[in-house]
Amino acid sequence: MFRSHTCGELRPEHAGQEVILAGWVHRRRDHGPLIFIDLRDRYGLTQVVFDSATAPEAHGIASESRPEYVLQVRGLIGRRPEDSINPELPTGAIEMHAVVATILNPALTPPLSIAREGGEEEALRLKYRYLDLRRERMQRNMRLRHRVIKFMRDFLDREGFLEIETPILIKSTPEGARDYLVPSRLYPGKFYALPQSPQQLKQLLMVAGYDKYFQIARCFRDEDQRADRQPEFTQLDLEMSFVEQEDILNLIERLLVELVREVTPHKRLMTPFPRLTYAEALERYGTDKPDLRYALELVNLSDIVADTQFQVFKSALEQGGQVKGVRIPGCGSYSRKQLDELTELARSAGARGLAWVTLPSDATAAPRSSFGRLVTTTEMNNIIDRMGGQPGDLLLLLADRAEVVATGLDRLRREFATRLNLADPQLLSFVWIIEFPLLEWNKDEHRWDAVHHPFTAPLDADLAMLASDPGQVRAQAYDVALNGYEAGGGSIRIHQRSIQQQLFQCLGMSAEIAQAQFGHLLEAFEYGAPPHGGIALGLDRLIMLLADEITIREVMAFPKTQQAVDLLTNAPSTVDEQQLQDLQIMICKKPM
Ligand code: ASP
Repeated sequence: MFRSHTCGELRPEHAGQEVILAGWVHRRRDHGPLIFIDLRDRYGLTQVVFDSATAPEAHGIASESRPEYVLQVRGLIGRRPEDSINPELPTGAIEMHAVVATILNPALTPPLSIAREGGEEEALRLKYRYLDLRRERMQRNMRLRHRVIKFMRDFLDREGFLEIETPILIKSTPEGARDYLVPSRLYPGKFYALPQSPQQLKQLLMVAGYDKYFQIARCFRDEDQRADRQPEFTQLDLEMSFVEQEDILNLIERLLVELVREVTPHKRLMTPFPRLTYAEALERYGTDKPDLRYALELVNLSDIVADTQFQVFKSALEQGGQVKGVRIPGCGSYSRKQLDELTELARSAGARGLAWVTLPSDATAAPRSSFGRLVTTTEMNNIIDRMGGQPGDLLLLLADRAEVVATGLDRLRREFATRLNLADPQLLSFVWIIEFPLLEWNKDEHRWDAVHHPFTAPLDADLAMLASDPGQVRAQAYDVALNGYEAGGGSIRIHQRSIQQQLFQCLGMSAEIAQAQFGHLLEAFEYGAPPHGGIALGLDRLIMLLADEITIREVMAFPKTQQAVDLLTNAPSTVDEQQLQDLQIMICKKPM
């Protein structure tokens, strides 16, 4: 027997038993004739006492041992003396008296301390990820990740879903992001793609009659690594036949509520999940993934300043834009310097400038404003009234195209939620965003793009507009946002060939190209495709929020850096000339 127990298992009732433990030297305290080693495995720590009087050989092993040595120790379990009981530790009432010890493997001095977490550069953690993963924080996150995925599998199994794997080598089709390509050796010059998601395959499974499918699916997108993204990530991918949007929303809402209650019961939820249309979310929060743990709602002022002579507002409105603002309670005493910094923040989010009003806490004193002399007193009073300004408040206003105003105010809203500590960290605020537009105009390419993906069905009521006014067509698409992040999204799909073809045409695809790229799907739709729809939840993001982490890297065992590099194995890397020859690939530098 290699070990009889784990290092987290022993309790006072084991006193008197002889046991065998195996694990890593976590900490070692050398008191001469007595050496104490905390032996660690992923279940916990056990204090082992090495006494030179009773077990000189084992004591010799202990004095040789250093942090992260792997030891096997046979010994007797005893209750600790009253004054050395450690109530913080589950095994804190016992200790092991070593009889025989073996060094299973020595260890170099680790470049990061397992016992003392934090402080070092993330790059070092990623390079030595196998050491970082030994730490308590990562162990907790890996356990949580396991619990979440296990819960989802069990829940969906109870609901009658089948978990079906789909291939990782598929055909490259334009689905939104850029594909990762894999060259084919057997068919030189041809490529497979790694799936951006199993979207088309799960739809084909619906055609095949597997009316409730799910998969814990790895997805690959070759995107510029803005924000907290990874080239590969994991989704709970799901598809159902003979359902309406409401059925999918209900199922996922039940799954999420039960998941949180079971896996993170210390977290609180707002149920039922509120629902906002896309238009409403943008109007009130400036984003389709609003954090609803706090208010700071945006206020539209366009009608109030419709006749203003203030050039900034006037020209924004003349060009079809908006004037909107957000009221920040209690920040009316911000200094000029602080306000300049906010203006910079708004600029970094794309705004040309920031208009502000500070309301002194003395209600009789006059407000200060960056544009006070440029609007009438009535206009100023109306702005303050509409925004519900109270003494001591700061009012921030943007005038620009609607998208710019939305992005800028969303940025400011999030910034002040952080500064004012408005977001309750124990609250999980899920919200459904519904009625997304089906298409958005791509200015650079002069064509329509699918907002969700090209397989999303239009709202029945808007179908007729697809030919006349595509920009107005709403989709049967939905997202679930959580604490300011997109946690998932899906849609009811098109299941008729003619509508799918019409949509491809809208997206600027000729019939030949549509046939070449999506012929398999179009053809399948002619063999009895049932109405269907689905959704995917981004597991890394969800687990990150459940774990109170701020990057998804903290909940992935072997993540890449923000620059898409694997520091542990050094991928991507060059390959042998022979490998390239086999693939008939020649590397040519991009002409400068
Ligand atoms: N395939 C979609 C995505 O990955 C999700 C869905 O529509 O089910 O975003």
